[in-house]
Amino acid sequence: MSADGTNALVRQTAQFLHLYRPPAIEGDFKRKHIISVEQFRRDDLDELFHTTQTLRERVAAGDRELSRLGEGRLMASLFFESSTRTDMSFQAAMQRLGGAVVSASNGVKFSSVYKGENLADTVRAAGCYADLVVIRHPEIGSSYEAAYYLDRLNERIVTPTTVISGGDGAGEHPTQALLDLFTIIDLKQGLQGLTITLVGDLTYGRTVHSLAKLIARYGAEDVKLCFVSPPSLRMPDSVIDFLNQHEIAFHETDDLFEVLPETNVVYWTRIQQERFIRQADYDAVHDNFILTPGVLNQAPRDVILMHPLPRKHEMGTPNDHDILDQNPRAVYFQQMENGMFVRMALLAKVLGLEGV
Ligand code: ASP
Repeated sequence: MSADGTNALVRQTAQFLHLYRPPAIEGDFKRKHIISVEQFRRDDLDELFHTTQTLRERVAAGDRELSRLGEGRLMASLFFESSTRTDMSFQAAMQRLGGAVVSASNGVKFSSVYKGENLADTVRAAGCYADLVVIRHPEIGSSYEAAYYLDRLNERIVTPTTVISGGDGAGEHPTQALLDLFTIIDLKQGLQGLTITLVGDLTYGRTVHSLAKLIARYGAEDVKLCFVSPPSLRMPDSVIDFLNQHEIAFHETDDLFEVLPETNVVYWTRIQQERFIRQADYDAVHDNFILTPGVLNQAPRDVILMHPLPRKHEMGTPNDHDILDQNPRAVYFQQMENGMFVRMALLAKVLGLEGV
């Protein structure tokens, strides 16, 4: 597609940020589209995380009843952008609950998208066949667009469909934030008094946008956020405004060592190379923050190290990866597994499954 064509698409999709407002959960998840962390309040999160804990215990205990709960329910997987953990954990979550997954054979690239079909029509096709659609797309606003069209479609079909965002361009990644927050609370017994430091690409990293906002929604006392990035990759104003509205303390810096000694949770991220328009801008920053085992040693003993993954050279060499992986402070594999349990809980609640 030409550069102009791409820009036209971006504009068209972004308008749905204004046309569609995601519903507040307010204690009732059933059939609500999950698009933004702004939909959740503290009670909703406590309830979701309680269900997550229960499901985790039931899976660990080999509870076979679980696979009856979602029998006959269908989830469509629509990934317009690459994914390993989000896609697989949603599929695993649905199947562990006894539901099934449909997707275009050989992925969305070989669906009618290949013939030039637009997002709305592709989403509506999935909506006609499945009870729930998980979507990831490179444009900000794509999951809003999906929700907008599904609401209209649902008035005309017999199997209404809900959408869950699996990553909305450089905007939000709500379910990643849910699993990240669950992991922090699980390992630190709450958020109270924690200093949580988010490092790397804070401009294009959708996981950090959602996590910072979700922590604000959770609203623990004395929690402090530190944002460490090159000046050109600082947290967007929209997130900063949200934190100010929620009166949460935060500090921005480009000096990791200023905040590392007081950090309890360090959340490292990859520079999002695919979002840069100019290669020179990426080249200027891509080596800025590299977490080696030596850097981690400068954090307090009880720090936990998180990363949404995939990781590249921002965690040093393959040898550094091996050393970090053996460090009990590195919790990204627990974080990854929790992703499946949080998504099981969310699917169960959005689909209204009995017995969870
Ligand atoms: N997997 C995460 C995402 O989809 C983080 C990343 O790609 O760096 O946003």
